Amino acid sequence: MKIRPIKKIIYLDYAATTPLDLKVEKGMRPFWSENFGNPSSLYSLGVKAKLAMNEARKAISRVLNSRPEEIIFTAGGTESVNLAVLGAVRNFARGSHIITSQIEHHSVLEAFKALEKEGYKATYLPVNSEGFIDIKNLQKAIRRQTVFISIMYANNEIGSIQPIAEVGKVIRMQNAKRRMQNLPEIIFHTDACQAAGYLDLNVQKLGVDLMSINGSKIYGPKQTGILFVKKGTVLKSQIFGGGQEKNLRSGTENVPGIVGLAKALQIVEKNKIHEINRLAVLRDNFTSKILKIIPKTFLNGPSVKNKSLNRLPNNINICFQGVDGEALILYLDAYGICASTGSACSNQASDASHVLLALGLNQAQAKSSIRFSLGRETSKRDLDFTVDVLKKLVILQKKIKSANI
Ligand SMILES: *Cc1c(COP(=O)(O)O)cnc(C)c1O
Repeated sequence: MKIRPIKKIIYLDYAATTPLDLKVEKGMRPFWSENFGNPSSLYSLGVKAKLAMNEARKAISRVLNSRPEEIIFTAGGTESVNLAVLGAVRNFARGSHIITSQIEHHSVLEAFKALEKEGYKATYLPVNSEGFIDIKNLQKAIRRQTVFISIMYANNEIGSIQPIAEVGKVIRMQNAKRRMQNLPEIIFHTDACQAAGYLDLNVQKLGVDLMSINGSKIYGPKQTGILFVKKGTVLKSQIFGGGQEKNLRSGTENVPGIVGLAKALQIVEKNKIHEINRLAVLRDNFTSKILKIIPKTFLNGPSVKNKSLNRLPNNINICFQGVDGEALILYLDAYGICASTGSACSNQASDASHVLLALGLNQAQAKSSIRFSLGRETSKRDLDFTVDVLKKLVILQKKIKSANI
C-alpha cells in the first residue's frame, strides 16, 4: 500500500480543539508585552488592561444577551463547569439532590461523582438510542430535594443537541411553585462548550442560570473560558485569593486570553449561519458515502435524515464494525488525517466511551467507533480523500485480523 507523502494535515478533530484564529492572535498581541499591566493596578497601564477586559465582557454579553456583570472569566471549559457544578451545589446541605445526564463531558460527571462522595444524591438521566434525554423523564426525576440540574447543550462525541430551552421551561415552572412554598429554587446549568459557534447562545431564550463556554473550541486561546452567572445565582468560590471576578475566580486575569476569547466568540457568531450550512452539507455527504462504500458501518447519534437541527453540523461518529478504532486512528495518522475515538479528554483511553455505551452500543462496537469533527478548514476534497483512505484501511485491517486468527 502506498503511503502518500504528507503535504498537509487533514484535521478532522475540531471538537477536541481548534487552531487559533489569526485575527484573534492579532487582537491579543498588544496585551503580552506592551499593555502587560495587571487590571487591578491603579496606574494607567493597569487601567488599560482593565478597560480591555471590560470591553471583552461587553462584547461577550452582547452575544449571550446577558449583562456584562454576569460574565465570569475562567481558565477553560473544565474550570467553568467545575465552578458551576461545585460552586452551586456546595451551598446546599449534603443529601440534597442533583440531576445530570449519562452522556455529559467528564468535567461534569467527575464533579458529580465528587459531590456524591460528599453526600449529595445524584441522578444520571439515560438517553435514547440517538442520544437525547427525555423531558418527561427529567420531570419525573425532580424531587422536593432537587437543587441543581446540569444538561449539556450539545454532545462532544455524537453531536446530539439537547432541548435546553424546554428544560429551562420545565425548571422555571418548578421554581414558580417553589417560590410559593418557600423552597430553594433549582439552579440550571448547561455545558455549551460544543454549542458555541453553531447554536443560539441567548441565555434569556435558553432559560439557564449558568452556562459554560470554552475558548479553545472556538478558534480562541486555550485555557480560556466563560461562565455565565445569572444575576441572583449564588455560587461558592472554588479558588481562593485576591477576589478577582467578583470573588468567584481569584487570580490575576489572563488579559490576552480574555481579549482573544471575546474576539473569537464574536467571529464564530458572525460566521455561524454560513458555517452551519456549509458544514452540514459536508457532514451529510461524507456520512452517506462511508455508509454506502464501507460495509458493516453505521452512524452513531442523531440521524441526519432528520432536517431539524438536532445534531451539530460538524459532528460525525461512525462505527466500523469489526475494526479496532484506535488502530484505525493511527493508520489515518500515517496519511496525515487527524480523527479521534470518542473524547480526547479521557485519561482511561482504552475504556469504551460512556456516551456510546449509553446509546446502547456494546463494548466492541464502542471501541470500533470514530469521531470526525469538521471545522473552518475542512473541504469536500479532504473529506473525499478521507473516505478513500478509510475504505483501504478497513479492508487492510480486516485482512490482518483474519490472518491472525
Ligand atoms: C472540551 C469540553 C469541555 C472541557 O474543556 P477543556 O478545555 O478541556 O477544559 C467541557 N465540556 C465539553 C462538552 C467539551 O467539549
